[in-house]
Amino acid sequence: MTNYKPDILIIGGGIGGLTLALSLHKRGIPCQIFEAAAEFRPLGVGINMMPHAIRVLTSLGLQSTLEKYGVEAKEFSFFNRHGQFILAEPCGKYAGYEYPHFSIHRGDLHKVLFEAVTKRLGLEAIHLGHRCRGVDQDEDSVTVHFENAESRKGSIAIAVDGFYSAVRHQFYPNEGAPHFGGINMWRGVTRRKPFLSGASVTRIGTVARGKMTIYPIRNFDDGTQLINWNTEQPRDDHKPNDWATPGLIEDFIEPFKNWDFDWLDVPSLIADAEFILEYPMVDRDPVDKWTFGRITLLGDAAHPMYPCGGNGGAQAILDAEVIARLLDEMDDPIAALKVYEGERLEATSNIVMTNRAQPPDVIIEKVEELTDGEPFERLEDLIDPADLVAISESYKNTAGYSLDAVRQP
Ligand SMILES: Cc1cc2nc3c(=O)[nH]c(=O)nc-3n(C[C@H](O)[C@H](O)[C@H](O)COP(=O)(O)OP(=O)(O)OC[C@H]3O[C@@H](n4cnc5c(N)ncnc54)[C@H](O)[C@@H]3O)c2cc1C
Repeated sequence: MTNYKPDILIIGGGIGGLTLALSLHKRGIPCQIFEAAAEFRPLGVGINMMPHAIRVLTSLGLQSTLEKYGVEAKEFSFFNRHGQFILAEPCGKYAGYEYPHFSIHRGDLHKVLFEAVTKRLGLEAIHLGHRCRGVDQDEDSVTVHFENAESRKGSIAIAVDGFYSAVRHQFYPNEGAPHFGGINMWRGVTRRKPFLSGASVTRIGTVARGKMTIYPIRNFDDGTQLINWNTEQPRDDHKPNDWATPGLIEDFIEPFKNWDFDWLDVPSLIADAEFILEYPMVDRDPVDKWTFGRITLLGDAAHPMYPCGGNGGAQAILDAEVIARLLDEMDDPIAALKVYEGERLEATSNIVMTNRAQPPDVIIEKVEELTDGEPFERLEDLIDPADLVAISESYKNTAGYSLDAVRQP
């Protein structure tokens, strides 16, 4: 541990920026957050926080608070588009991890982090209404410039300003439009009584013929739950990736009209939604450098990826833990940013590419291929159940949440 504590300017107060502030504070490193939004608003829909991310949030003392807001998931369940059961695998503590898996409203997660930051660092550590427009540096310091506020000086700037990072754009001005993989998503939340175990992250069908991911994200005292649902469908073009774009049922309902299974009535789940958002599956090609002297990128600014498998949020949280540890342990903060890049860049680049090629529901794709999309009589006649489990394990390994990976922080 070093006695020198650099003062850190964090650009962006989303999931990654707030986690970073808590991680630095825990190690006694001063920091301030500069967030573009003028007020804190709990935005978005559901997000899965798996054991690798919960390990970090637990180390920040947040597990019991998250437990109150989210739903502890018990299993991943896979079904074909006829509602036939393919596989269920325990998850989180139920699978032997030391940490639980929480499915939670992204707004609730953001709120838990925001409240912890204001309580521990003080409200004055968060500067709302500060939209960064660029950064510059000299030998001794870094300066962050804002659109309508005074510039700030510090010793290190960490850009956690999300998918459309202004800082990333400064270093990669010719990056162009995001990469669109030809899949559009509609997401919504619906309050209803629990389905299956009441704690299942359920995946049904395939992108080509209709796919849904459905899981509960909030429990209510009357026994109902807020259910997050998401559909992915092939499209030639897309609207901008803005988490506030409203979606229309008629644009995506067609494949699901008859999905009234004996365990869940999907059309009514969709029809009863409190709101629907439309969001394209976009990411960016990995870059080979995040750190430029006193400045580095973190979270979506560093590795924008498809928002699937809960990895956008989780990888930002892991980045935050690593960089805080290195800034604490190393004498030279500039060298620490370089080591952070070395530890995290390749791992996250692999996830960006895996999410494109082999999403978490590849198991259902496999069964669909074997049955040509038709109902099956006996699944075990088509594929060895052990092979299905092996496919799932391979995804966990890449995404960094295999049992072994979580055991070795
Ligand atoms: C409004 C919103 C809703 C989302 N909803 C979901 C969801 O429902 N499910 C899901 O899986 N993922 C969702 N995401 C994405 C998910 O939060 C991120 O992929 C993940 O948390 C990575 O964290 P991050 O901190 O890098 O980015 P984010 O959590 O996106 O945070 C980036 C922050 O930077 C701020 N910012 C942007 N530009 C600037 C700037 N120039 N200067 C200063 N601050 C800036 C943004 O306002 C934001 O608060 C959402 C993101 C946003 C912004």
